[in-house]
Amino acid sequence: MGPGPSDIHPRVLSALSRPTIGHLDPAFIAMMDEIKSLLQYAFQTDNPLTIPVSAPGSAGMESCFVNLIEPGDKVIVCQNGVFGGRMRENVERCGAAAVMVANPWGKPVDPQAVEDTLKAHPDAAALAFVHAETSTGAASDTRTLCELARQYGCLSIVDAVTSLAGIELRVDQWGIDAVYSGTQKCLSCVPGISPVSFSDRATYRIKNRKSKVQSWFLDMNLVMGYWGTGGKRAYHHTAPINPLYALHEALVMLEEEGLEQSWNRHQQNHRALAAGLEAMGISFLVDEPYRLPQLNAVWIPEGVDDAAVRSTLLQDFNLEIGAGLGEYAGRVWRIGLMGYASRKQNVLQCLSALEAVLAAAGAPIYTGVAVAAANREFTST
Ligand SMILES: *Cc1c(COP(=O)(O)O)cnc(C)c1O
Repeated sequence: MGPGPSDIHPRVLSALSRPTIGHLDPAFIAMMDEIKSLLQYAFQTDNPLTIPVSAPGSAGMESCFVNLIEPGDKVIVCQNGVFGGRMRENVERCGAAAVMVANPWGKPVDPQAVEDTLKAHPDAAALAFVHAETSTGAASDTRTLCELARQYGCLSIVDAVTSLAGIELRVDQWGIDAVYSGTQKCLSCVPGISPVSFSDRATYRIKNRKSKVQSWFLDMNLVMGYWGTGGKRAYHHTAPINPLYALHEALVMLEEEGLEQSWNRHQQNHRALAAGLEAMGISFLVDEPYRLPQLNAVWIPEGVDDAAVRSTLLQDFNLEIGAGLGEYAGRVWRIGLMGYASRKQNVLQCLSALEAVLAAAGAPIYTGVAVAAANREFTST
């Protein structure tokens, strides 16, 4: 129950052990087509350029920036946690200038600050931000931010690593131009693959660049020759065959459950966990409307030894929770309820284990009420 990788369903693990076949085998190519359309479903998009990049979420981030940004461009980057800082690194390594919109950590990106910045920089090529900040547990209003980007003639680049399958995300309806995700958060698949999707506007930009994409491996003009729509497929790199079996299975399971049902399940388990934690006297870092159901950042109670509690949870209860990052290191815990890990038994186990460890440490919490509060929340919905 950390910030990812999340637990993997046995069906996905067993898909991983299917026999490895060739990356141009007709059966494999048929599966590639299914993965693309299942990803279109997960992203809620018709974008033909919707594929899994053969590397982790960070490579999905990098593929959005290296393909869309050229030397000399200006990019507006919003930062309200760890990952916005990495976006800035990407922009600068593309030879472009990053104009930062700084928001306090734990708060969503402020649309008014973004609009002011767009107005002040009418020559900006793109607006980049994180939908679900895993470092703090805050969700930003992606729909509004993408509308602003369109209004001011910018492409939008959205980090959906933690949001995909966990909270509402509608790539086409919200007008997102480039989006990347990861497999090990709410998709509950093995780490190491990054689903990405580019709108027609973004694809046009990629096909009509003045300069070559500086990364050979991530150049979508080349990757499209392997993953491309219709036509003959040519070898570009050896796809991670077995992890893609796992991704296929995870996406089939998402389709079986239903995307909106998956969003609702994450919400419901979060509400029960929150009810239990709050009954114990533990409060959240993020204001209620912006809380991510899949990443619960909570204040560590007064006088409690952060590392000792996490290590006892791991040793005595086989339970991992995440540490705080940056200015919240040692001050908050990040409790993940992602994908297959977002289920009732985990909520109840986490509450009872945390209560046992905190009570033993003499922490100022209310005991004997958390599990009951969570159960009340489960039965009321
Ligand atoms: C996990 C994460 C990433 C990085 O993904 P990796 O698979 O670790 O490379 C990027 N952005 C966000 C918001 C994340 O949570």
